[in-house]
Amino acid sequence: MNYPVYLDYNATTPCDPRVVEAMLPYFTHDFGNAASKSHAYGWVAEEAVTIAREQVAALIGAEASEIIFTSGATESVNIALRGMYEMHQVRGKHLITSGVEHKAVLDTCAFLETIGAEVTVLPVDIGGRVDPAALEAAIRPDTILISIMYANNETGVIMPVKEIGVIAKKHNIIFFSDATQAVGKIPVNVLDDGIDMLCCSAHKLYGPKGVGALYVRRKDPRVRLNPLQYGGGHEKGLRSGTLNVPGIVGLGKACMLATASLADEPKRISGLRDQLLDGLLGIPGCQLNGDRAFLLPNTCNVSFDGMPSQVMIAKLNKHMAISSGSACTSATLEPSYVLVAMGLGDERALQSLRFSLGSYTTPSEINDSFRVVRSFF
Ligand SMILES: *Cc1c(COP(=O)(O)O)cnc(C)c1O
Repeated sequence: MNYPVYLDYNATTPCDPRVVEAMLPYFTHDFGNAASKSHAYGWVAEEAVTIAREQVAALIGAEASEIIFTSGATESVNIALRGMYEMHQVRGKHLITSGVEHKAVLDTCAFLETIGAEVTVLPVDIGGRVDPAALEAAIRPDTILISIMYANNETGVIMPVKEIGVIAKKHNIIFFSDATQAVGKIPVNVLDDGIDMLCCSAHKLYGPKGVGALYVRRKDPRVRLNPLQYGGGHEKGLRSGTLNVPGIVGLGKACMLATASLADEPKRISGLRDQLLDGLLGIPGCQLNGDRAFLLPNTCNVSFDGMPSQVMIAKLNKHMAISSGSACTSATLEPSYVLVAMGLGDERALQSLRFSLGSYTTPSEINDSFRVVRSFF
């Protein structure tokens, strides 16, 4: 397969070869069950998991004991939101989230509503951000959780996380942030940001698919959750089931590499993204979706007036792998709910394209991709 240029890193990333190399022994020679306490096979696996837990914790400023390994961000979201609701619904049934969250959050909130939760879905401004004052105004005496993402997957817009953390703390409400798109791309620190629970996923930061983590704060305050599944009591009882040791090792290695690369890689990638974005914005009718002052270094989402994204993608996908924010549901094309929530209107939302760059993006790939896009206008 002669692949097009990959500009869809927000959908998934390739594994870094160093991650694969770190994982390989744990499939074969070092295949032990991390829960086997009675022999060396188990000890070696457990030691690898311990190191990975420290590597994940280090990337987000947490303690190793606060990291729960899961199958990815979707599972982490479910444990955080459903676990919180089950544990604390006697105290309150109100949750606050935003209209631009990933479906993992929105669908979980919709489920919780069917079992009695009351959910306030905050609007976002035209730039894609939640207004902290509106969030504070939405707090009720029975609010038990605030769930606001760190950065949006479609637009790359970074939320006012620190301000939200301060508000959550002031009102003694647990703050969960879906940081799947932020971790590894920008500095994230659960203490500085006032985050009580956070999720991430290995395959969004050059690790393998099917493994992720949930950070659960242990003190000031200690977050208590009901588990969703039972059996064996692994991961402090929050996520029973034999640990995916190779996957966990891969996640740990990916986090270690991200920690090292945060010093310069975001600058390099945002340089390329800015070059692409400035070029695109020079095309008549091209507009940025999202506030440029708050973008992840790797993402831009633009729309082209009068050019449906499906038409653009059909023209472009021989040359580059990109995505429209839109989802195809049966025969009809739905505009992106994220862009609609930003108030951009269905038409503009249906003319949007997301370019997301990554570690392997080169200047010549960006030059070539821009030339191809421009050639259609
Ligand atoms: C990819 C993504 C998820 C889901 O992650 P999985 O590991 O695939 O379950 C959740 N939230 C955001 C913001 C994402 O980008």
